[in-house]
Amino acid sequence: MKKFFPVNEPRLAGNEALYLEQCIQANEIAAGEFINKFEAEFANHLSVNYAQTVSNGTAALEVALYAAGVKAGDEVILPSFTIISCALAVLRLGAIPVVTDVSPKNLNIEANLIEKCITSNTKAIMVVHIYGHPCDMDPIKELANQYNLKIIEDCAEAHGAEYKNNLCGSLGDVSTFSFYANKHITTGEGGMVVTNSEEINSRAGFYKNLCFEKNERFHHNELGYNFRLSNIQCAVGLAQLEKFNSALEHKIICGERYRENLKDIPYFMMQNEESWAKQVYWVYCIRIRDGFPANAKEAMRLLKNEGVDTRPFFKGMHDQPALKKLGLFSDVECPITDLAYKNGFYLPSGLNISLNDIDQVCDIVESVFNKLAK
Ligand SMILES: *Cc1c(COP(=O)(O)O)cnc(C)c1O
Repeated sequence: MKKFFPVNEPRLAGNEALYLEQCIQANEIAAGEFINKFEAEFANHLSVNYAQTVSNGTAALEVALYAAGVKAGDEVILPSFTIISCALAVLRLGAIPVVTDVSPKNLNIEANLIEKCITSNTKAIMVVHIYGHPCDMDPIKELANQYNLKIIEDCAEAHGAEYKNNLCGSLGDVSTFSFYANKHITTGEGGMVVTNSEEINSRAGFYKNLCFEKNERFHHNELGYNFRLSNIQCAVGLAQLEKFNSALEHKIICGERYRENLKDIPYFMMQNEESWAKQVYWVYCIRIRDGFPANAKEAMRLLKNEGVDTRPFFKGMHDQPALKKLGLFSDVECPITDLAYKNGFYLPSGLNISLNDIDQVCDIVESVFNKLAK
């Protein structure tokens, strides 16, 4: 039988089972000590003051925007090339998503593109470090200072990545992570909101827990949601965090192996590593050069036939019927995003993949592209 290479898989090789057993022994499945432990260890590991668990990475973005003070009618600038979670979080608060195109080199949002979108209603910039590669933050921070904007940093794909030796997650006013099963650490479903600001942290805790008032518990001045993460999930998260360094090391070794193996194939580009970046290869990306006789869809289909599982790149927010129906983005053009969507996909990048697997995948990639080129 042909070997199958899954695009992504979690790795549960530490204290997960032990800590889950402890939750059950203690009869603590909802609230419990693993929540505080996971939050404290996570804050410590990023060297930030506060970390607040939430139920997933999408909720984390909504909580972060609320906590940063984004309100109905405010504009939030974000990249078109991202997951819909980013635009959804803005919309859920009644705020207005304003999207920009991205850098053709690293597929991230950039200061010069952001600046063109700033109006008197702009309240925040949501940066998304895409596919494990950090954004160029210094010029973005300069803009934020100049126009008095908050920076929300979506680190779901960049856990462990660094910008000029500073970890992603410590570069904005408030930063978010996802612990979905394909992320660097997982709790099944889960997320985190981190910040150095006591006020932002306290607003995040308020919003994720139904906006209970401190003095009169069942009296509500604002509408919040239940975005809590359970003790069971935090038990898994703590075990995962203990193995974070080895997981990250594996990601980087795998990414470098792919880069080395594929560097002489002329038909596609790989993700550049910019001078400011330590990238972490959350997934291993390929962009077919424009003019090549096949697009991503066709290449992915042939790879699947050979047992190589892949995923397409994001389709831009400016091109989403669900968002356009709301009257958004009617005159927005994002050619780089469109081209990335047409030509981009990523290769098996899970935490259980071996270097030998990668060598086999690369051989298949090479033969599929040679075939398509003819
Ligand atoms: C995975 C991801 C999210 C959403 O996280 P969920 O936990 O799946 O809700 C948000 N932003 C980016 C960039 C992601 O990759």
